[in-house]
Amino acid sequence: MTVFSNPDFDAHETVQMFYDQASGLKGMIAVHSTALGPGFGGCRMWPYGTEAEALSDVLRLSRGMSYKNALAGLVYGGGKAVIIGDSKTDKSKALFEAFGRAVDALGGRYITAEDVGIKVADMEVAASQTVYVSGIGRDGTDFGGDPSPTTALGVFLGMQAAVRHKFNRDTLDGLSVAVQGVGNVGFNLCKHLTDAGAKLMVADVYQPNVERACDELGAEAVDATAILFQDVDIVAPCALGGVINADTIPGLQAKIIAGAANNQLGTEQDGITLRKRGILYAPDYVVNSAGIIAVAAEYDGDVSEAELREKVNRIYDRSLAIFQRADGEDTPTSVIADQMAREIIANAS
Ligand code: NAD
Repeated sequence: MTVFSNPDFDAHETVQMFYDQASGLKGMIAVHSTALGPGFGGCRMWPYGTEAEALSDVLRLSRGMSYKNALAGLVYGGGKAVIIGDSKTDKSKALFEAFGRAVDALGGRYITAEDVGIKVADMEVAASQTVYVSGIGRDGTDFGGDPSPTTALGVFLGMQAAVRHKFNRDTLDGLSVAVQGVGNVGFNLCKHLTDAGAKLMVADVYQPNVERACDELGAEAVDATAILFQDVDIVAPCALGGVINADTIPGLQAKIIAGAANNQLGTEQDGITLRKRGILYAPDYVVNSAGIIAVAAEYDGDVSEAELREKVNRIYDRSLAIFQRADGEDTPTSVIADQMAREIIANAS
C-alpha cells in the first residue's frame, strides 16, 4: 500500500493511520488541505476488503471535502476519516471513544461528523473524548444533529436547478426519478420528490429500506443492479461512489444525474463522456454540500436557522451557474466545479 505515490494522494497535508488494540479500532484520517481552515468532513465506517481500498476512499473523500467546503463558501478545508469495519456488527462504545481520541490527537486540524455507517449516537461517544466533532446537535435547540435531512434538501435544490437547465422547467411534477440507495439521505430526498409530484423508482441492497420507500411513499421497487439504467428523466445516486463509470454510462437513459453520493464519477474521463452523451451531471459535492453546511453551522454555533436555510438555498444558484459556465465553455460540469474550487483554495493559500 503506497501513500505518496498513490494515484489519489493529490498533495494531501496529512494521512494518519490509527489503531486501538483494546477496542479493535482500525482507521485512517486524511486532511487534504487546511488552506481555508481546519479539515472538516465526516467519518465513514465500511467493511473495506483491503487497506488499500480504505486508503483510496479516504483520500478521494478528503479531497472532495476540500472542494465541497471551498465551493460552499465555508472557512474549512477538506478532511475525512474512515473506520474499517462493519457498522452493523463491529460498533462499540470503546471503539468510538478510541476514535474520538484519534481525532483529538490531531489537535483541531480535523473536525469530524457522520458519514455512511455512522450515527449521531456514535459521534456523541466520540465527543466524550474530543471537542473536534459536530453533527450531534446543540443543547436546547432543534439545531444540528443528523445532517441527512438537510443534505437531502440540498440535493433536491440542485436537482431542481438541473431540471431548470436541462428541461427548461421549474417543477419536477410528472418527471421520473430513479434513486439508488434509500438510506438516510436517499429516503429524505424521496420525500421531497414525492411532494413535488415526481414518479419514484428505488433500489437498495438493504430490503427494509426499499420496503419503507414503497410503503410510505408509493415508490416502485427496482432491482439494485438495474436502477441506474431505467428509462427515467433523472438518476439520483445516493449509495456509494464510483457508480457512474465506463461500464455504466453506455446503459444510462436518464438526461440528468443528480444525487447525494460522494465521488459518483469513477474517473475524470466519465464527466467528459457524460457531456458527450448529452447527460447533465450535477457535481456531487456541489449538490450534497448542505450536510457539511449544517454541521459547520452547528460547530460554529453562531448561525441562525434562517441563515442556515439561506446558505443551503444557494445550492440552487451555484449549481445553475456551474451548468451555464459548462455550456459556455463546452466543458464538463465536473471539470468546471473542480476549477472553481481550486481557484478558491489557491487564492486562500
Ligand atoms: P446510508 O448508509 O444511510 O444510505 C446508503 C444506502 O445505500 C443504504 O441504505 C445502503 O443499503 C444502500 N446501498 C449501498 N450499496 C448499494 C447498492 N450497490 N445499491 C443500492 N443501494 C445500496 O448513507 P447516507 O448518509 O444516506 O449517504 C448516502 C451517500 O450520500 C453516501 O455516499 C454519503 O457519502 C453521501 N453523503 C451523505 C451526507 C449525509 O448528510 N448523510 C452528506 C453528503 C454526502
